[in-house]
Amino acid sequence: MHKVKGVVSKGKNQPVSVETILVPDPGPGEALVDVLTCGVCQTDHHYVEGGVGDDYPFLLGHESSGIVSAVGEGVTEVAVGDHVILNWRAVCGQCRACRRGEPWYCFATHNATQKMTLEDGTELTPALGIGSFAEKTLVAAGQCTKIEGELQDHQYAAVGLLGCGVMAGIGAVLNTGAVKRGESVAVIGCGGVGAAAIAGAALAGASTIIAVDLDDEKLATAQKFGATHTVNSRQQDPVEAIRALTGGHGADLVIDAVGIGPT
Ligand SMILES: [Zn+2]
Ligand SMILES: [Zn+2]
Repeated sequence: MHKVKGVVSKGKNQPVSVETILVPDPGPGEALVDVLTCGVCQTDHHYVEGGVGDDYPFLLGHESSGIVSAVGEGVTEVAVGDHVILNWRAVCGQCRACRRGEPWYCFATHNATQKMTLEDGTELTPALGIGSFAEKTLVAAGQCTKIEGELQDHQYAAVGLLGCGVMAGIGAVLNTGAVKRGESVAVIGCGGVGAAAIAGAALAGASTIIAVDLDDEKLATAQKFGATHTVNSRQQDPVEAIRALTGGHGADLVIDAVGIGPT
């Protein structure tokens, strides 16, 4: 059992607090990870707002890199000392979605079996089955994706983003949207997920990639990721602008990376 600090949300819309938490040693199929970095994702805020169920207290954080410090019985995927990205969709490989080659629809993703707790024994619900706004976290070994090769210290924060925002955006474009070469893509909201969607559209060979945001700084960054056009929707009607840039047809694929009514 390890006594470490973690960021806990104890109730709907209450301020989060840094708490001492107890993290068990890994059991069969589990891995204990020393957290190196953790991104701040909007989903953590949704937990605080009560938008992801009411299994309080939540141990927040889910977009991380770390170093495996112990593994349980039967773990072969990772070993002590491995640098890893934590991923919240550790797929089973056996359910009907996995067997038909669509693991992103897996019905039986893996999480740690044992519970992390507060000092008084109250069980914590780790955000997205990860809970990595903490010095250590306990996950299913399959939630660790080994980082091959040597990185410099500051790069671990960047690769940690692969665990959530980057795969959300790139996956939406490549898997869900199935963008093909020469198509047009508009991305509404150019934060972490939106920027990744733009990068995905560029990877897929989209010819017109329109970034839409309220913030000129984010639009400038979007161009670095491959946006061919930018629309500041504070200054221009984005629907009209997108139609004008796509011969009047509208984009072949539109990604809403904000997720609120007006977008
Ligand atoms: Zn996230
Ligand atoms: Zn599965």
